[in-house]
Amino acid sequence: MWELTVAKRRSAKGSGEGWEEETEEGGVGANLPRPTKIICVGWNYHAHAGELGSAVPAEPLIFFKPPSAIIGDGEAIEIPDGVGRVDQEAEIAVVIGRRARRVDVKEAAQCVAAYAPLNDVTARDVQRNDDQWTRAKGFDTFCPVGPPVAADAVDAGKLTIVARVNGVERQRGSIQQLAFGVPQLIAFISGIMTLEPGDIIATGTPAGVGPIQPGDSVEIELVGYSKVRNPVIARPA
Ligand code: MG
Repeated sequence: MWELTVAKRRSAKGSGEGWEEETEEGGVGANLPRPTKIICVGWNYHAHAGELGSAVPAEPLIFFKPPSAIIGDGEAIEIPDGVGRVDQEAEIAVVIGRRARRVDVKEAAQCVAAYAPLNDVTARDVQRNDDQWTRAKGFDTFCPVGPPVAADAVDAGKLTIVARVNGVERQRGSIQQLAFGVPQLIAFISGIMTLEPGDIIATGTPAGVGPIQPGDSVEIELVGYSKVRNPVIARPA
């Protein structure tokens, strides 16, 4: 279920302590339609590319997750039988607010409606076995997204994303560590395909990906602004 609510900042600067979600009918989130596509960026943090034995490419590496994979806060990540290792990937997501076609880097910021925490759940063994990542990234429930926060309510230059599994921190990354920043990504992607309001760009994951399994609880926080928490279960028959 894609809940189009907006989480508003409660405390001045988010530390993760005392964070509390507030939602508002009619906020920016209410004007965001369901995404026509989710564009993900691979290997966009140097340390994560290194941990997978790769490097940041010369141009952004992009792939899709299907909108059918989206789940909201509290819904279960379902692990299918026989897929092997499945990892969490904490990512800063950008939600597009206006149609963007071939925008340049300077115009790109105007296209951002909101930011959200996103979990690019990945069937890692499947990813390694397939040349295309559609299967590894596209299972139902493999895209938890937290409530979007209006772009003008955040300090977009200082966003931090964290992953916790069973309360233990695994990943922490700053938007400042992105190899390709948000304006560059919007310019690059919109030069290929028209971005529509509601479309989501997942900007890549920092180092620290690791396996999740049934019984785990995974939390992705856009620190100080929004969280998405999901239990992990075996996919029901
Ligand atoms: Mg990813």
